[in-house]
Amino acid sequence: MVTFYRRLPKFDYLAPQSIEEALALLSRYQGSAKVIAGGSDVVPKLKRRAMKGIDYIVDLKGISGLDYISYDGAGLKLGPLATVRAVERSDVVLETFPMLAQAAESMASPQVRNRGTVVGNICNAVPSADMAPSLLTLDAKVSVVSEKGSRTVAIQDFFTGPTKTVLSADEIVTGIEIPNPPANSRGKYIKLTPRRAMDLAVVGVAVMVTPENGICKDLRIALGAVSPTPIRVAQAESILKGNKFSDELIDQVAEAAAEGCRPISDHRASAEYRRDMVRVLTRRAIRELLSDEAASAQGFGKGA
Ligand SMILES: Cc1cc2nc3c(=O)[nH]c(=O)nc-3n(C[C@H](O)[C@H](O)[C@H](O)COP(=O)(O)OP(=O)(O)OC[C@H]3O[C@@H](n4cnc5c(N)ncnc54)[C@H](O)[C@@H]3O)c2cc1C
Repeated sequence: MVTFYRRLPKFDYLAPQSIEEALALLSRYQGSAKVIAGGSDVVPKLKRRAMKGIDYIVDLKGISGLDYISYDGAGLKLGPLATVRAVERSDVVLETFPMLAQAAESMASPQVRNRGTVVGNICNAVPSADMAPSLLTLDAKVSVVSEKGSRTVAIQDFFTGPTKTVLSADEIVTGIEIPNPPANSRGKYIKLTPRRAMDLAVVGVAVMVTPENGICKDLRIALGAVSPTPIRVAQAESILKGNKFSDELIDQVAEAAAEGCRPISDHRASAEYRRDMVRVLTRRAIRELLSDEAASAQGFGKGA
C-alpha cells in the first residue's frame, strides 16, 4: 500500500517570552503572523491548509504568569492562558460563576480542554463557541493590547461575524474580566448536540435569572450557534423584567428569543429546528432555574 503524506504548510514558529515581545512580533509581521494559545483551533486549521497567508506562528504558551484565574471579591479575572479545563475545575468559578464551569465542561474532551483556552475560544469566534453565551450573560469585558495602546471591549461588542472579532492583526487579548453576577442570581448553560460528547453546539442557550419574592428582578439570555455571532436577546429579556413569573410570560420570553435569532440550515440542523430548540431550551432553562430557586428557598439546595 502506498501512503501519500501531504506536506504541512511552512511557517516559522516564534516563542516570545513576554507580551511586549509578542506584540513587537505581531507589529513586525503584521497580517502574516498568527497568535496561538492552546493551538486547538489553529493547528488543525494549519494541517487542513485552511489558513492562508500565515508565515509566522506566535505562541503565547511560553510566557509565564498568563494562566491566572483570580477573584478579588468584585469579580473574576481570567488570563489569556487560563485553560478551559482549569476554569471548569476552579473552586472559585464553581462557587461564584457555576454557569461558566458548566459551559467549560460541555466543551470537547478533557484532552482538548486541557490545551484550549477560554480566550482562544472567544477569539476564534465561531457562532457555536461554548464559552461565549455564558460570558455574554455575565457582561464580561475583554482586555486588549497592542504596541499602540490598550482598550477594553464589552463582550457584546467583541464579535463581528462568523470567526470575526474587533481584534486587529497586531492586537493580543490579555484577559477577561467578569463582574460578580447580581445577588441571588442563578445561571444555566444548555448545549444541544446530536452526540453526547465531542460535538459542537447545534444550539447553545445561557440564561441568568434573578428572582425576588416571585418577581423577575433581572433576566439575561444569550444564544450560540443560531446567528452569525453569539448574541444576547434584549427584547426577550425585557418581557419578564419587573414582572411576576408566570407560565404565560415565560412562554412569551421563549418565543421572543426564538424570533430574535437568525439561524442557518446546514448539515448539522435546519434553521427551523434550531429556532424551535431556542424556544424549547430557553423555556426549559428559566423553569429549571426557578425550580432550583424554590428548592433552595426550602433548604434543599445551594445558592447560585
Ligand atoms: C477535537 C476538537 C473538539 C472541539 N470541540 C469544541 C466544542 O465542543 N466547543 C467549542 O466551543 N470549541 C471546540 N473546539 C475548538 C477549540 O478547542 C476551542 O475553541 C478552544 O477554546 C480554543 O482555544 P485555544 O487556546 O486552543 O485557541 P488557539 O487555537 O490557540 O487560537 C484560536 C484563535 O484565537 C486567537 N487567539 C488565541 N489567544 C489569543 C490572544 N490572547 N489574543 C488574541 N488572539 C488570540 C488565535 O489567533 C486564533 O485565531 C474543539 C476543537 C477540537 C480540536
